[in-house]
Amino acid sequence: GDGTDDDVPPVRWVRVNPLRCPKGNTDSVVDELTRKFPTKVDSWRDIVPGTIYHDEFVPLLFGVHTQDKITSHELYKQGKIIIQDRASCFPATILNPGPHDIVVDACAAPGNKTTHVASYMFGNEPDQGHSKDRKPQIHAFEKDPERAKILQKMVKTAGCAQNIQVNVGDFTKLATPALCKGVTGFIVDPSCSGSGIFGRKYVDSLNSRRQGADSQKQGAKDNEDEDVPEEQEQDEDDNVDGDEANNSKPTRDPLETRLAKLASFQFQVVKHAMSFPTATRIVYSTCSIHAEENERVVIDLLLDKKVQEWGWTVSKRERAIPSWPRRGLVSEFEEIFRDDKEKCQEMADGCIRALPKEDGGIGFFAVSFERKL
Ligand code: SAM
Repeated sequence: GDGTDDDVPPVRWVRVNPLRCPKGNTDSVVDELTRKFPTKVDSWRDIVPGTIYHDEFVPLLFGVHTQDKITSHELYKQGKIIIQDRASCFPATILNPGPHDIVVDACAAPGNKTTHVASYMFGNEPDQGHSKDRKPQIHAFEKDPERAKILQKMVKTAGCAQNIQVNVGDFTKLATPALCKGVTGFIVDPSCSGSGIFGRKYVDSLNSRRQGADSQKQGAKDNEDEDVPEEQEQDEDDNVDGDEANNSKPTRDPLETRLAKLASFQFQVVKHAMSFPTATRIVYSTCSIHAEENERVVIDLLLDKKVQEWGWTVSKRERAIPSWPRRGLVSEFEEIFRDDKEKCQEMADGCIRALPKEDGGIGFFAVSFERKL
């Protein structure tokens, strides 16, 4: 490194992709990984080059040392393993869809969560998922055409292109119950401040925003040249202002204004998902550390008349990786629902937080909403 990243955990998270395993059998890939990294460690904190950690929270997820050139390995080139930050694996794990679900990914590019969702739905019988006469069971929406191309590429690499309908456009306008017939669950991972992202990725995204389109292309090229590419970039909030988004903004809003804009956009996206009459589960997530984009969006939704009418509540902790220790901020809920402390604790417990670096990856927030029909 350049000396500024000393506190960055030297762990790279990789998940085994059952969609690229013969008959969905992941054993051979896990075996190959264990042969390449014969020494197992019990915590990601103990990872040194050559060792491997099998994660206890996300099935089929492993941590290796960042110095181990996993991307030059055949498993990676074949799409049998996918680099994805641990916390970024939480939403699909929480939604945990099965082969009979129909899932919409509202803000999908570059497709880490879309392909992870697909691995839960079709992982046991990847071949079945490829039959031509089956309707796609995953509808992915992405507003940015360039990012949608990356999404297309990623679903091909991951081996689930047949099952994913990619729609290029604004989810809140384009997605209708008619288009996403019978949808049961949503992944909503909208643009956010990106305040949970650290290291070179974060610095790059700031630089490219400041320097405009040309250097953005250069930035993308730089990434390709890197021997060890990171997980596909999470985006920052560059699309929130709609039409303004394509103009490079010379100055930035003050943080408060920016967070307020983001939160109202995030609220709209989740609320639109909640309006689908057949849906019973929604997982909302951000890579932000700010309560404004996290717990407070949850609170605003819970206070919304329509959302109440539709019957949505925060899922209990049991639904959202219960063994993960770091939960939502109870103080945020207490500020609003002060009379019902127990309820506040329950809602905070329903949320998941990850701190950047300290928890072995990017800062993250995830929550599941559910209702009975
Ligand atoms: N879920 C992705 C993954 O795991 O790979 C990362 C999603 S990124 C945080 C948010 C994405 O939402 C960006 O690609 C952005 O272009 C897209 N987006 C922003 N507003 C949108 C909208 N109204 N409809 C659809 N996509 C949108």
